Amino acid sequence: MLAQLRRRAQIYWRLEGPKFVCAAVWLALVAWWFATNWIRFTNMKGVVALFGYWVPFAKGCANVVMFTSMFLFLLVCRTTLTKLRSVRWLHWVPINKHLVWHRWCAYIFLAASAGHTICHCLGTFPTLANDPRARAALKLPPVSQVYLHFISVPGWTGWALVVLLAALAGTSAVAVRRKRYELFWYTHHLFVPIVALLALHGTAALLGPPQAWKYLAVPVALYAIERMLRVHRASWPVRIQAAAVQADTLELVLDRPPFVTHYVPGQYVFLQVPSISPWQWHPISLTSTDADPFLTVRIKKLGDWSHALTQLVEPALVLEDAEAEADKVDAKFNGGKSVVGTVQPPSRQTTAGTADLDATTLLAAPPAAHLREVSGASTARSSLTVSDASLPDSAAGIKTDGGPPVPVLATPRPMSRYMISATGTVKPLAVGTTVDTARRAQRAALALQSIDVRVDGVFGAPSQDFVDHDHIVFIATGVGATPFLAILKDIERQVLAARAPARRSVLFPTSPTTAAHAPTAPPRRVDFYWLNRDQAGFQWMAAALGAVDRRVLRDVVRVHAFLTGARGGQATLSSFLLWWGLALAKRRGAAGKCLLTGVRDSSVSWGRPHWPTIFRQTAALFPGKKVGVFVCGPKQLAREVYEVVREVAAEVVDDGTVFAFAKENF
Ligand SMILES: Cc1cc2nc3c(=O)[nH]c(=O)nc-3n(C[C@H](O)[C@H](O)[C@H](O)COP(=O)(O)OP(=O)(O)OC[C@H]3O[C@@H](n4cnc5c(N)ncnc54)[C@H](O)[C@@H]3O)c2cc1C
Repeated sequence: MLAQLRRRAQIYWRLEGPKFVCAAVWLALVAWWFATNWIRFTNMKGVVALFGYWVPFAKGCANVVMFTSMFLFLLVCRTTLTKLRSVRWLHWVPINKHLVWHRWCAYIFLAASAGHTICHCLGTFPTLANDPRARAALKLPPVSQVYLHFISVPGWTGWALVVLLAALAGTSAVAVRRKRYELFWYTHHLFVPIVALLALHGTAALLGPPQAWKYLAVPVALYAIERMLRVHRASWPVRIQAAAVQADTLELVLDRPPFVTHYVPGQYVFLQVPSISPWQWHPISLTSTDADPFLTVRIKKLGDWSHALTQLVEPALVLEDAEAEADKVDAKFNGGKSVVGTVQPPSRQTTAGTADLDATTLLAAPPAAHLREVSGASTARSSLTVSDASLPDSAAGIKTDGGPPVPVLATPRPMSRYMISATGTVKPLAVGTTVDTARRAQRAALALQSIDVRVDGVFGAPSQDFVDHDHIVFIATGVGATPFLAILKDIERQVLAARAPARRSVLFPTSPTTAAHAPTAPPRRVDFYWLNRDQAGFQWMAAALGAVDRRVLRDVVRVHAFLTGARGGQATLSSFLLWWGLALAKRRGAAGKCLLTGVRDSSVSWGRPHWPTIFRQTAALFPGKKVGVFVCGPKQLAREVYEVVREVAAEVVDDGTVFAFAKENF
């Protein structure tokens, strides 16, 4: 019994040790801050005799309010926190939990504020109104309670604070935050008058000099600098270079703004689209890696903002589709070159089971300045072929047979002349692509580029710590897989680079750019568990996996997809039938490939994973190793996985296998 308890304590310590130590130290500091004022005022001559313990208690609470308010600001300075993540000796501080910590600070702040208010309402103010000795001690004239509550500076600022804090706390409740995020976010800006009132509250200096500014000056200044940084970054317009709508997600390829100098997979940015709302910033994980010259993101259509963004982008893609149709007809009747076959139609048209994993979609076009006229081409509608980038960039337009001049970009963008796959893999635009394709795509590109996007970041997230482990278990639901896409790309780069040295020659040494992205040791193995209700989400995941080197998927990364189905009813049956069909197809054909993921060494299961079996197998495969478990999905799933990890970690503690657990909730 005792041994079992010790073992459990050991596991807790390994999984949560730093968090507990940090929380304990911090709570001890809160208690200390309370105690210092309590002791000071109980020892102050006449205070307890005149006011009882109301004043020491109110003052102790005031100190706690000041101490926690400092952390309330520091814990949302995301740029600073992202920098602190890379400080090795700070690894024991649970920076991943900064928002949970911020919330706990808020609870303690509110409790201390309530304590302070109650003490003044029940003790200090009635005593001052009724006891001339107490007024004489504070050198006050005769005052009524109404005066003390609503006219004196501590009184009216105190009540104003109560009202503002109640509004802020009310709109921060989980239910409100989930349903009406904007309300939560906008009311959080009440922090501005709250800080002003806190600074003003103690200026009457009744029981000592004002203290608030000492605590608030640095954290508020740091937070203000970060907000100004956001304003500065937001002044940099970022263009959408390419886009794709797949199932219920929208993928965007964005210019990489100059302030995004370095980032690691798993991190995220805040996106703002001024034409939707200049006030809304949405956190979105990057699916690109630092080695990419652009930023890619995948956004699930969920609420107002993501739907509005899709609606903004879709017309450009519809334009592309409509013109593709026109070209098909054109090609049929004129015998001209048809674009169909040269360039695949947008991959959002692919359906599960028939997805062509190698298909790339022309999403953004080369500027027309890159087009050269080719005489004798057979297309009646146009006689241009993409073939040469050497023409002057300043061309004002390209004339086509019988058509109006095609508008061109005055200065070609560096990301022009490429085809981009649904995963963001950039390939040069194929020579021989007809001008119809190019014009069509160019118009789409112009339409896309007219959408203004702003980026703030990049910011740290728990999954970026994947590098610290020998074996990674990444568990995601739906669009929660986005951090993994970046991690997957990075692992691919690491694995391929680790194998490359043998082929490197003296003639082609590593370029400075490659050296900047020099690989760290790749993890030995990554198991990716992806849970999806239906097959729709598999479209984009299949495309993403299709772009990854086969050797990486065979040797390092294992994909385990789970069709969890809907809760009961027909949808469950249809997802079961789909899984059954897939299992048959995999066995009987498709070269052993799974039709959903497009990967040979992957599995698709129907239903929910059995976590105890999975983690026991993992522990058996990697005795004595560091296993990192990352969950990106609903809280309930994270809790479920965490319980099992703890259980299994306790069983294998003697093997020296160390489990680490981190989670993200989108
Ligand atoms: C670190 C992080 C990374 C994320 N990465 C991705 C990603 O790669 N792809 C993706 O599709 N989604 C991602 N999300 C979730 C994404 O931010 C929300 O889905 C998006 O903001 C929804 O906005 P909406 O108005 O369309 O939906 P709404 O219906 O307004 O909101 C849906 C949910 O998103 C939350 N939310 C809304 N606005 C914000 C906001 N400004 N900040 C934080 N949460 C908000 C709300 O609490 C709500 O529960 C990420 C979230 C976080 C915290």
